[in-house]
Amino acid sequence: IVRVEALRKCYGDLEVLRSVDLQVEAGEVICIIGPSGSGKSTLLRTINHLEVPTAGEIHVNGMFINDTSLKGKAFDKHLCEVRTNLGMVFQHFHLFPHMSILQNVIEGPVQVLKQNKAEAEEKAMQLLTSVGLADKRDAYPDMLSGGQKQRVAIVRALAMNPSVMLFDEPTSALDPELVGEVLSVMEGLAKEGMTMLIVTHEMEFARKVADRVIFMDGGFIVEQGTPDQVFGNPQHQRTQQFLASIH
Ligand code: ATP
Ligand code: MG
Repeated sequence: IVRVEALRKCYGDLEVLRSVDLQVEAGEVICIIGPSGSGKSTLLRTINHLEVPTAGEIHVNGMFINDTSLKGKAFDKHLCEVRTNLGMVFQHFHLFPHMSILQNVIEGPVQVLKQNKAEAEEKAMQLLTSVGLADKRDAYPDMLSGGQKQRVAIVRALAMNPSVMLFDEPTSALDPELVGEVLSVMEGLAKEGMTMLIVTHEMEFARKVADRVIFMDGGFIVEQGTPDQVFGNPQHQRTQQFLASIH
């Protein structure tokens, strides 16, 4: 469903991703772990084309996202189309502060997918109900806790009917007591069969929910496998060191 081939990303002289290959199957839950600066966020942002790759290819649902044969408006249209397949959730929520919760959720479906408002609202309310936030529909982001904001951000991404959800440290900015409510929403999504690519420091969550764990260091995928393999019997010294350092 997502295919990343020989992906490289440089910022000037700094090579942040060095030939990353990754294939994500439908329904798969992948947790990406690794030290700070190893390129985890850059990988997710490049998949979504928030960062332009230096080299390599990214295919989403069979669509070649960084298709350089398309120029200008044609590329923008293509990118917009590919991106509707990808839901992205960031560490810092990025809700629209001047819009109510319901407006935040229906904005994309109405503006981008051209759904009519009533239809979008119905779907939005279903999703908000599923994360326990139906009663916040008319509240503004400022009035919500971090955990509530992050649940809205997840709902907003889901409202676009993505085939893949990308999460970049969705719980890192939350007070410890609010982490659980967000992780449980994500666990629910995993159980429903959502394809997810999750950068996280929540090792317990990764162990429990991931089908595959990827350890990145220095812009490479150093090691990957089932949670049992990567956490229980890491093969590479750098993986062992990293796991030892966080315990
Ligand atoms: P963390 O766990 O701290 O979030 P990460 O694995 O997500 O780390 P990235 O954010 O992908 O790491 O960054 C990888 C490297 O790329 C870092 O050395 C960072 O300083 C550098 N970098 C990231 N974005 C830019 C940018 N826009 N310009 C220049 N360098 C950047
Ligand atoms: Mg990061």
